[in-house]
Amino acid sequence: MSENKNILQDSHGRNHAYLRISLTERCNLRCTYCMPSDGVQLSPKSHLMTYEEIYEIAKTFVDHGVTKIRLTGGEPLVRKDIPVILEKLSSLPVELSITSNAVIIDKFIDVLKANGIKKINVSLDSLDEGKFKHITRRHEFKRVYNNILLLIKEGFTVKVNAVLIKGFNDNEIIDFINFTKDLPVSVRFIEFMPFDGNKWDMSKMVSYAEVMHYVNETFSKDDFIRLQDAPNDTSKNYKINGYQGSFAIISSVTNPFCDSCNRLRLTANGQLKNCLFSSTESDLLTTFRTGKSIEPIIKKAVQSKFKVRGGMDTLEKLQEPKLHNNNRSMITIGG
Ligand code: SAM
Ligand code: SF4
Repeated sequence: MSENKNILQDSHGRNHAYLRISLTERCNLRCTYCMPSDGVQLSPKSHLMTYEEIYEIAKTFVDHGVTKIRLTGGEPLVRKDIPVILEKLSSLPVELSITSNAVIIDKFIDVLKANGIKKINVSLDSLDEGKFKHITRRHEFKRVYNNILLLIKEGFTVKVNAVLIKGFNDNEIIDFINFTKDLPVSVRFIEFMPFDGNKWDMSKMVSYAEVMHYVNETFSKDDFIRLQDAPNDTSKNYKINGYQGSFAIISSVTNPFCDSCNRLRLTANGQLKNCLFSSTESDLLTTFRTGKSIEPIIKKAVQSKFKVRGGMDTLEKLQEPKLHNNNRSMITIGG
């Protein structure tokens, strides 16, 4: 047992207490930055974790110190057995949360509450109905917008994630900030990141510095404050004085937060990714199905985690297609 002590500590001294679990590779939206235009090759159903396997594998992580689990996808709520997954995972001693596109979340308010979910992150990249349709390739703006209002009314802590793409929604940065005026919501601007098939290039990305440039053009220095970030927070948080909500920037490209990274990712087909940008993964599910311990595999995967962004420690490396094309598409990682 002793060789399986501290299996969640990597060779750079980082402890991993946060596990993100992707429940499905499917989605009811088709965001262009996430889902390749030709779709993705879906795993056969038999290769996906069942709810029992999700629970047992998650429990192994919890036994070794994971205290936070976030469910993601694809769209986690399209998974038919989501109520039982929530019920099983909520029996573990963790803070359980979910990231959703909110298209159908109104149907799950009671089940989310019953299982102690308090924090929900919702993707919304535009406040304009036509632009929303363009980026998601689906006509669901009103449902998503109304569901964000519903979640707030129902008392959930809501963060809205907006991936910024130059020339597409960077002119909405101030509209999004003003969205926080009368609503207790945190809008988080995410730097567009490269993944397989998403046609990323650096010129499409809106950086942290550029967001702050828009902010400084509109508001005076006395109008906003820099908030204290939570430990292991990936975002730099700000608030306009007098506004109910706040805004933040997640700058994985220009200002990575790898030093304090405490996250691991489990894909829907049971592969452990030690970093969002990692091009390698470790198969937990196959070993789990043989009945053998998955602890040595977890330990090895965590130990081998790169110090910065899956080894792409410079912007030059991040711009090298052959490095990030070995990674999955985001839809099959889960953010
Ligand atoms: N379907 C859910 C949703 O959209 O919130 C959960 C899964 S989605 C993959 C998780 C997060 O990843 C979303 O906030 C989405 O905006 C973000 N994301 C997807 N592709 C991205 C990219 N290329 N760069 C930055 N963020 C991305
Ligand atoms: Fe689906 Fe979320 Fe990806 Fe959009 S970002 S395609 S909603 S998984």
